[in-house]
Amino acid sequence: MQLQFRRKYNMHEVRPKKFLGQHFLKDQNIAHKIATALNESSAQETVLEIGPGTGVLTKYLMQERGRKLMLIEIDRESVAYLRANFDQNALQIIEGDFLKLQLADMTSEDLSIIGNFPYNISSQIFFRIIDQRHQVKEVVCMIQKEVADRICAPHGNKTYGILSVLIGAYYHAKLLFKVSPGVFIPPPKVDSAVIRLSRKEELTLGCDEDLFKKIVKQGFQNRRKTLRNALKPILLPVEITMDPIFDKRAEQLSVDDFIHLTKKIELWKK
Ligand code: SAH
Repeated sequence: MQLQFRRKYNMHEVRPKKFLGQHFLKDQNIAHKIATALNESSAQETVLEIGPGTGVLTKYLMQERGRKLMLIEIDRESVAYLRANFDQNALQIIEGDFLKLQLADMTSEDLSIIGNFPYNISSQIFFRIIDQRHQVKEVVCMIQKEVADRICAPHGNKTYGILSVLIGAYYHAKLLFKVSPGVFIPPPKVDSAVIRLSRKEELTLGCDEDLFKKIVKQGFQNRRKTLRNALKPILLPVEITMDPIFDKRAEQLSVDDFIHLTKKIELWKK
């Protein structure tokens, strides 16, 4: 039994663990395509790979000279595999949880993030990236196709939501290509897609950004309600909520509309 199992997975020598969202990419062309989807300028800078697993992307990332490559991987078995198979002088391996990582502790410079993200925590990864956006210039990642669609959706679309607005506030998001389940071991139950986020020139929104986040989250909490009803927990006075923007639903507002709304509420709070 054990032997059979080993034979099935010996290409990786790491047993895929479901609770860590491990689906190992076996298609080398796709791995190469993802690794080279970072922009040219990023190729000279620090690149952090989240969840390298057995290093299928890492291998291609290492081909770029002049780049400082760091990996963060939570799985001890994968880390042992990477340490045994990759030149430690060419990269830095951190055994740990990306969700707990402070990028500022690692480098004071800007960096790019790349990875085939563990799908079960991809939203949390994006929230951490948004919080540390001052250091994250670009992201190339494979995620569940459905999440990719949500991130890239324009306002007015059914799938437009919290992530679309919060990411869209700071990054230009682009869906690069789709990936089918058959190229992974084991195959996930969902389709995948690779996206690129490129940070906007302007790092601030010109409004209270905590309030902005609160309004976006609260607004989508009850996405079918008008903002007048959905934002009730924020306790706004009638003079403000009389404004026609409150007749709309969160999904009808663009990023700029949300900024505009935040400014309005901010003025009243002063
Ligand atoms: N890059 C590899 C593996 C992708 S699977 C490939 O394409 O084949 C996702 C990887 O993320 C797994 O190796 C898993 O162990 C790792 N991972 C899961 N949660 C993590 C976390 N919180 N921090 C860092 N890595 C994590």
